[in-house]
Formats: sequence, C-alpha cells, structure tokens
Amino acid sequence: MLGTFRGGIHPYYGKEFSKDCLIETMPAPQTVYIPLLQHAGKPCEPIVQVGDEVVRGQTIGKPVGNGAPIFASICGTVVAIESRPTATGRCQHIIINGNGKNDSIRLQPLDNPTPQEIDDRIAECGIVGMGGAGFPTASKLKPGGGIQRLIINGAECEPYITCDYRIMLEYTEKFIDGVRLMMRSCGANEGIIGVEDNKSDVIADLLAYVKEKNFTDIKVIGVATKYPQGSDKQLIYATTGLKIPKGVRSSSYGIAVNNVHTALDVYLAVKEGQPCYSRVMTVTGGGIANPKNLWVSSGTLYKDIIEYCGGINQNNPPVKIVNGGPMMGKTVMNEDCSCTKTTSCLLFLTKDQCSTATPTACISCASCAGVCPMHLMPMYIEECTLAGDYDGAEKYGANYCLECGCCAYVCPAHRQLVHSIRKAKSQLKAREKRNG
Ligand code: SF4
Ligand code: SF4
Repeated sequence: MLGTFRGGIHPYYGKEFSKDCLIETMPAPQTVYIPLLQHAGKPCEPIVQVGDEVVRGQTIGKPVGNGAPIFASICGTVVAIESRPTATGRCQHIIINGNGKNDSIRLQPLDNPTPQEIDDRIAECGIVGMGGAGFPTASKLKPGGGIQRLIINGAECEPYITCDYRIMLEYTEKFIDGVRLMMRSCGANEGIIGVEDNKSDVIADLLAYVKEKNFTDIKVIGVATKYPQGSDKQLIYATTGLKIPKGVRSSSYGIAVNNVHTALDVYLAVKEGQPCYSRVMTVTGGGIANPKNLWVSSGTLYKDIIEYCGGINQNNPPVKIVNGGPMMGKTVMNEDCSCTKTTSCLLFLTKDQCSTATPTACISCASCAGVCPMHLMPMYIEECTLAGDYDGAEKYGANYCLECGCCAYVCPAHRQLVHSIRKAKSQLKAREKRNG
C-alpha cells in the first residue's frame, strides 16, 4: 500500500495545462529587477553601485547573517538600486540594463569534492530551498550535522505546478547526481525520493536509472496522491513511517528534507560551477495563452514572462494571478514584480477556477479538523483570533499550522480560516519579539 498521512484533501490538480510542456529557456529580458531578498532571513547588502558593469553570475548582493548571495542574471550596467514591490511586500532591487553579451562567470567544477567542499560550494552559489521556503541549503547539509537520511520531495503536491515533474523527467541524471552530492555533504547514508503516484512515468524513470547505476543507497518511493503530501512531516511519515512530533525539527531525527530543483542546482553548482541566477518555473492556468515550463533569469518581470507566454487568454482572461500554487501561493497584486530563486509558478486562474463564495457563520461541522494534516482544530483557532484571544489561538496550536489551506478548502461556510490563522501567528510572533 502507498504511504500517506492522516488528513489532507484531493483538490482539482490542474496539471494537464503544463505537464507535457518541455522545459524551454526564456531569452533574458533587456532589463532585470533583481530583489535583494530571495531567501528566508535578512535581505542581502548590495556590493555594486549604479554605473558598474556586471557579468552574469557575478555576486551583486552579499548575505547578512544566515542568507545566500545574489548574482547578476544578465550582463550589463547597474542603472538603479531602489525599493520595489515583491510578491510579499517590498525590498531593495538591483536593476541591470542588458548589453546583449552572453558571457557568464563560472566557478571551477569540482571532480571529487569532500563534504566540506560541497557545502562551501552550495553556500558560494547561493542555493536555497527552491520549493518556496528559501532556507539556505548549505546550513541544512553541513557535514557532521548528524543527518543520516536525505529525503527529496518529489511529490509536487501543489496543484497546477509541474516544474519539478519536468526536471525529474528531463534532467534525471543531473538530479540524481545532485541528490548524491547532497548526501555526501551532510553524511546521509540513505537517500529517499518521494514521488506522488500520479507521476508514474517519473517513478519508472528514476527507478530504472538508480538500478542501472546500482545506486543501492537511493530509494524511489511512490506515495499517495494527496495534498499536502510534500509537506516535510507528512512526506517523512509517508516514506519512512516516522512521526516527527509537532514543534520538533526533522534534523533532530537525523533527517533533512530538500526539494527537487535544489538537488539540480547542487549538481550545477558543484559539477558545472554555476551560481544560482535562474530557475525553472511553471507558467500555467486557464488564463494564460500558452502555458510553459521555463528557465527564467532571476529578476525577470512577471509582465515579461506573460508576454513571452503569448499574453493572457483573451477568450477566458484570468481573474486572479498567483505567485506559487492555488493552495499556498500569494495573490499577485502587481505585474511589475519580478521572479526570484523561489518563484516556482505563476498561475493564471480564470473565473471558473476560483471560489468567490461569501463566508457565512461556522456550523461546527468539524470538517476542517478532519482534514488538517497537523491534527489541529482550525475552527477554534479562528474563533480565538476573531475575539483577539491570541493565547487561546496559541493553545490550539496556531504556531504549528502549515498554512496548507486544507481546512478552508473543505469548509462549507467558506470561512477564511488560513487568513485568521496567519493573523494569529503574526501577532504571536510580534509579541514574542516584544518580550525579547
Ligand atoms: S489549520 Fe493549518 S495545517 Fe491545518 S488544515 Fe488549516 S491551514 Fe492546514
Ligand atoms: S469546516 Fe467551516 S463550518 Fe465546519 S467547523 Fe470548520 S470552520 Fe466551521
């Protein structure tokens, strides 16, 4: 029987829009707007000035604390350093006007690197969790950190998104080699790739490749197609049977979980010396003329991507654009935002693909609690939040919420449960900060 977890939902997956779109490379735009915050943590400090000439792959942002460096994604001149909107707020951007040159800075490829050399290269190339979390990968894979198992999230359970699916199919060798480099870095003696069983072609390809190469330390495990199967604790349980308690890090159990694109980037950094200045993203949904999977230069404006994909679908225009998937993504307020290391998807939802229902009173049906993968009681967290009782929200486990959206998805009263829980979490965080 396929591994899975308790709770979760089966939303409309919408993968058909882009799953057969081979990865293509979008030509670099004339101008890129590179955000200095592309990872969890503080924004980078710019180390270039207006008027400087830069080359693709050159470091232009230096990390502050536990961050990751940021690189020029095209060759050209820095024309401005200014605050601009992002998908989640605002931050400083370095704006580069291209000069049409196609040069790039590459580091020396490493043939047989030590664990420390791999980890140093991952840090130097600015690799972060490409699934959206943006946590600097080097700190997760430090040698001697007690990691015994590396789990790769190949579930790609978020509806519509297919970039990881395409990477596993089209870059099988580089992806698996990236997984092996990550294992060597952190000292894991077992690698597990968890893939939802709706990607049977990927499972077959990966199994055939690891068998052909006799990589006996790598397991490819099919897991049930269910959202949010790719969430860390849920994937760990589905692939190993281990239950990691709420509030406990998987590293305490000797496990590190990473993303498919991150593994590919580790390969590119170590074996090809390529810093992280571009990524594969899915552009999809009924509201875009030509859905695609694309290599996109960091700092490319959403509106340039829309234009490259043939513009919006005039016969069925989008009513909502989302950065990420429909369950956990953020609504795009401004097409002048630019993509980052963690932009896995731009989703163009049409009227028929969006819920516009008005919330009504909770009917205490407990459906939300039944699907919560963290076994929380979302209705009580919301009730406390609406009453301003953040102690109560904390008591009901608001801080353990994944913000997966399963509860809101099944709520017959269309309660905005995730919105309330996010509010409780941010209030609790602010209070913790105030109290030192
Ligand atoms: S309470 Fe949080 S973790 Fe539970 S279903 Fe809702 S969003 Fe997901
Ligand atoms: S699913 Fe909606 S209506 Fe039912 S208990 Fe939860 S919040 Fe209330």
